[in-house]
Amino acid sequence: GQSRSPDYLSGLNPEQREAVETTEGPVLVLAGAGTGKTRVLTTRIAHILETGRAYPSQILAVTFTNKAAREMKERIGLLVGGAVEGMPWLGTFHSIGVKILRRHAELVGLRSDFSILDTDDIIRLIKQLIQAEGLDDKRWPARQFAGMIDGWKNKGLDPAQIPEGDARAFGNGRGRELYTAYQNRLKSLNACDFGDLLLHPIRMFRANPDILRDYHDRFRYILVDEYQDTNTAQYMWLRLLAQRSAPSRMTRDQTGAQASDRRPDDISSAPAQASADRRDTAASESKGRPTVNICCVGDDDQSIYGWRGAEVDNILRFEKDFPGAKVIKLERNYRSTEHILGAAGHLIAHNEGRLGKTLFTERTNPDDQKVMVHAAWDSEEEARAVGEEIERLQRGDADGKNHNLNDMAILVRASFQMREFEDRFVTLGLNYRVIGGPRFYERLEVRDAMAYFRLVCQPADDLAFERIINTPKRGLGDTTVRTLHDYARARDIPMLAAAADICETDELKPKARKSLWDVVQNFSRWSQRLETLPPNELAEQVLEESGYTDMWKNDKSAEAPGRLDNLKELVRSMEEEESMRAFLERIALVMDAEQNESMDAVSIMTLHSAKGLEFDTVFLPGWEEGLFPHQRALDEGGRSGLEEERRLAYVGLTRAKHLCHIWFVSNRRIHGLWQSTMPSRFLDELPNTHVEVAESDTSYGGYGRGGYGQSRFDKAEPFQNSYSTPGWKRAQANKTDATRDNWGNRSGHAVERIGYGESGPRGKTIEGE
Ligand code: ATP
Ligand code: MG
Repeated sequence: GQSRSPDYLSGLNPEQREAVETTEGPVLVLAGAGTGKTRVLTTRIAHILETGRAYPSQILAVTFTNKAAREMKERIGLLVGGAVEGMPWLGTFHSIGVKILRRHAELVGLRSDFSILDTDDIIRLIKQLIQAEGLDDKRWPARQFAGMIDGWKNKGLDPAQIPEGDARAFGNGRGRELYTAYQNRLKSLNACDFGDLLLHPIRMFRANPDILRDYHDRFRYILVDEYQDTNTAQYMWLRLLAQRSAPSRMTRDQTGAQASDRRPDDISSAPAQASADRRDTAASESKGRPTVNICCVGDDDQSIYGWRGAEVDNILRFEKDFPGAKVIKLERNYRSTEHILGAAGHLIAHNEGRLGKTLFTERTNPDDQKVMVHAAWDSEEEARAVGEEIERLQRGDADGKNHNLNDMAILVRASFQMREFEDRFVTLGLNYRVIGGPRFYERLEVRDAMAYFRLVCQPADDLAFERIINTPKRGLGDTTVRTLHDYARARDIPMLAAAADICETDELKPKARKSLWDVVQNFSRWSQRLETLPPNELAEQVLEESGYTDMWKNDKSAEAPGRLDNLKELVRSMEEEESMRAFLERIALVMDAEQNESMDAVSIMTLHSAKGLEFDTVFLPGWEEGLFPHQRALDEGGRSGLEEERRLAYVGLTRAKHLCHIWFVSNRRIHGLWQSTMPSRFLDELPNTHVEVAESDTSYGGYGRGGYGQSRFDKAEPFQNSYSTPGWKRAQANKTDATRDNWGNRSGHAVERIGYGESGPRGKTIEGE
């Protein structure tokens, strides 16, 4: 016992301290944004280590991303005054899962050097299986089935356990057989997918209670951050590791006395008193009921991964699953000003399905700025205005302080929104970095499209040729490419020219020759149009006529709509370009903009990947109906989709410490078509007391401070300044005129509502989400 509290505890408030010091037994910290949940977890680990309750290798700590894991490790080091050696079990569910699986692979029929398949491998494999079942893989797309499998695995379902309806929904009722065949195929390949990284250990633990008991001995303390976003499989995995049932404990005590004598792997780095302490704990446990030292922290208002299978109910079940759990609430927010917190709290109060929490802050100051709401004509102006505001902050013109770019973030709902900001920042020479995904021009589909454009402008670009020659699939595989390559090298000509030549010979099989000839013809036609067509129209033709757009249209996977949106955005970005060549040149410069960890740079990311982070200033663009809340949530019609969107807005607002700027535009131009937009309903849900509408601070100019006609919610505390802008009204009243008046060449198009792609982390990687 300590007589004096160590430094790392003295900064905590009483509730935080209780959460840190209640090391034994189950603890749930349920608290709002910025209340120090993550800080509690970090300090708790430091406390466990400092008091010798466990070695670093005996702590299992789960974070949502690998970046968060690295940061946590660093902070623990700072708290205990020295680098923490070990902590091998601090990471994401996936990274910990793979480590466990490698140790016991043979028990689930794998070898320890099993490989983890990426999405492309999985799609290819499923496609083979679909064909092997004699099914048409166009009617039953492999990507769709991959998505279904992922969904089942998130729920922890084996082939035998999937609902009958699900099984019947795919492949003429052969869903279950296909899932079984898929698992068998993985096994014979000595491979697994991401879901298996948790499901295999779950199966293995269930079948081998003795091994599970070893892990119970090993993991004396379990800690989980962002608990509200765990899915069912993760929850099952956690419960297995955390719940030492009394009978199994008995067995261990009778048979495995040596288990507690086993030396931990990192004994050298542990504090001296640890082994004595460990013996004490072991002795007390063998007398009474075993204690389950699990501590989960979360916020039901920040559950934003329901669309990927997260179950916020896991929070509600905690007390039931871990009897005697201590539930600790934290109410003081240390992050944000009163205005930011007030705005966020008022917004989230519109959700019905919530536990409800109190939050207050003492970070207030009479000079604090309210949350600012800005209107812009369109997304280009939005990007320009955000760029101006950032420069004002940097120069100190905004509030007399010089702000670092590192302290600012732009959080978007859908990843296609990033393009406009990236372009603008390159023009301004403003450093930026994209977090949690590739930069716009680095995305797969954008790079493919650019390869087509490069080859149109520069027929000697062999790299571009090789990239797209069989994308989409045209039966021009590796063999053909090798033949072309050799032919071109022997004659010292570009591959596209070699392709034209080789089609005159009988070097290739007739089918490949025909297919290659089409490609050659296409490129020659497109190149001729370089001088006559505007670059965006040519780009659109290239993507259509090559079959590239169709490739994604036929793709039923979750990410396909987002990729199509990115392609549309790419074409749109060429509208004002002089030529396709000029465009490619400009992008080469964008791509050259350096991106490194140490430079001072604005962060751009999706709202989903901003979870857990904080910034002095936060920009939230695109608060329009159909974008945010997302069209898909609106189409669903139910409450739950909309409420998840609102939680996402809450996450966005609560990332800000001091300043928060929200933007909405009156018009979004997508794929050359105007879309008149309504301000987001979330704007009407913000309280007047904490929010201010910016006066004409953009080139678009001021907008009305009229009645309250547009508000659809929150009659109790109306937001006086209706967001019904003249621009919006004008566009509504006469869409085509507005289009012609302002933007010339694009008149007469119907205004249509175009779905936006999903944002959020794209794909999954072992590096965490
Ligand atoms: P989120 O829900 O967004 O993940 P959180 O509850 O995890 O938030 P933290 O990120 O842990 O909150 O803390 C928010 C900020 O408040 C951090 O900058 C943290 O250092 C600070 N903080 C937390 N507790 C205290 C405290 N007792 N004294 C001073 N600062 C604190
Ligand atoms: Mg946190």
